[in-house]
Amino acid sequence: MPSLWLIIEATIVMVIVTLLSIKAGFVDPSGLLSSFIVGYIIYIFGDKLFFIPLLIFYVIAGLMTKVRYEEKKLKGAAEEKLGARGWKNVLANGGVAAAIVCISAYTNSISRPELLAAYLGAISTAYADTLATEIGLLYPREPRLITNMKPVPAGMPGGVSPYGTVAQLLSAFTIVPATVLFLPIGDKLSAFLNLLVIVTISSFLGSTFDSLIGATAQAVYKCRICGKVTEKSVHCNAETQLLRGIKYIDNNMVNLLATIVGAIIAYMLVYSGLVPLKIEM
Ligand SMILES: [Zn+2]
Repeated sequence: MPSLWLIIEATIVMVIVTLLSIKAGFVDPSGLLSSFIVGYIIYIFGDKLFFIPLLIFYVIAGLMTKVRYEEKKLKGAAEEKLGARGWKNVLANGGVAAAIVCISAYTNSISRPELLAAYLGAISTAYADTLATEIGLLYPREPRLITNMKPVPAGMPGGVSPYGTVAQLLSAFTIVPATVLFLPIGDKLSAFLNLLVIVTISSFLGSTFDSLIGATAQAVYKCRICGKVTEKSVHCNAETQLLRGIKYIDNNMVNLLATIVGAIIAYMLVYSGLVPLKIEM
C-alpha cells in the first residue's frame, strides 16, 4: 500500500499539474479528468520512478502539439480544439502504462526490472508516436506512406517523414535520463545505457507498428462536403465516407495497440536477458 505521505505528495503534484495543464490547454475537460486519474494512479503505485517519465511525455508532447499550430492547421493536420486532447486520447496513450503499474503493484512486483521496462516501452511508444506526428508535421514537404513510400497528404495515417523519424529515435534521450535520476541503483551509468537501448528499440518498433497499422488497417474517410481525406468519421458536420481500412480501427485504437507492442518488446528485451537491467527497491 502507498504511504500516507506519498498520497499527499501525489495529490499536491497532480493538482499543480492539472492547474498548469488548464493554463497551457494541453487537454480538454474530459482529458483533464482522465489524465488526473492516470497520473494519480501511476504516482501512488509507482512513485516518482514511474511518474516522472509520464510527466515528461505529457509536458513535451503537449508543448510540441502547440508548436507552429497555425501552420499545422493550414495543412489540415493539426489536432482539433487548439491541440487540447480528450479522454480517449489520454487513455489510448496512458491506459496500458497505468494498467502495468496497477498489475505490478497488485502482484507486489513493482521492483521487477522487466515490468519497469514494459512500462517505459508503453509510455515511450506513445511519446515517440506523438513526437513523430507533431514534429513530422513541420517537415516542409509531403510525408510518405510507410508501406509503399508514395507521397501522401500531411496528417494521413501511416505517413512518415525524416523529421518524424528523427524525433521518434531521439525521444528516448529525454525520458531515460529522467528515469535514471529516480532509479534506486548503484551503477547509474550502465542502467542509463541499458535503458537507452531498451527504450529506443521498443519505442521505435512500437511507433513503427503504429505507422504500419495506420497505413493499412486504420480507417481513412473522405468528407462528402469538402472532399478532404481524413481519419475522422465526421467532417464539416457530416458523416464521412469510408475510403480504406476497418471502420472501428481509429487513431486511438491504433495508439493503444502500439503501446501494447512497445511494452511487450521492452519486457522481452529484459526478460530474455538480451539487455540486462537491475533495480533494487
Ligand atoms: Zn469536410
